Amino acid sequence: MRCDICGSRNSYVKDYEHNLTRKGNKINFVAKRRFCSNCHNLVYDRVLDNAAIKEAITIYNNKYGVNKDEINLKYMELSEFNGYMELDRDKIFNMILYFAEEGILKTKLVKEMFYADFINFKNTAVSITGLEYAKLNFGPVPDQYEMILNKGLEEGI
Ligand SMILES: [Zn+2]
Repeated sequence: MRCDICGSRNSYVKDYEHNLTRKGNKINFVAKRRFCSNCHNLVYDRVLDNAAIKEAITIYNNKYGVNKDEINLKYMELSEFNGYMELDRDKIFNMILYFAEEGILKTKLVKEMFYADFINFKNTAVSITGLEYAKLNFGPVPDQYEMILNKGLEEGI
């Protein structure tokens, strides 16, 4: 697994204390995460990260309750892999409309979105949209982007 910040391929796993806030509601828990041996930033590890996110959702829902329809959005909002921004719905759809103005293939759209967010994250340490990105074989794409695009279609955006 490669560090997105410094490019190192050396990493280690350790217990990490998560302090997450969503809409003023706080949760704390400890879960194993992967870190870069060189710069000590978090390194994406699909298995560990999914386990940590599931843990966060379970704790959050037990503590604050949940509307089942909102689970997918909570999944994204609680993640620390979204560039430390709360998910910004308006910015997501504005970005999609900007890139898709003259028509665009879905695969190209999601890659454009990644580069816009990633460049912004590198420069300012926060992403534009707050979306998290899944590392798939064909490159990074926003996690659950199908759901987002379908939602945009449904609402006529
Ligand atoms: Zn690193």
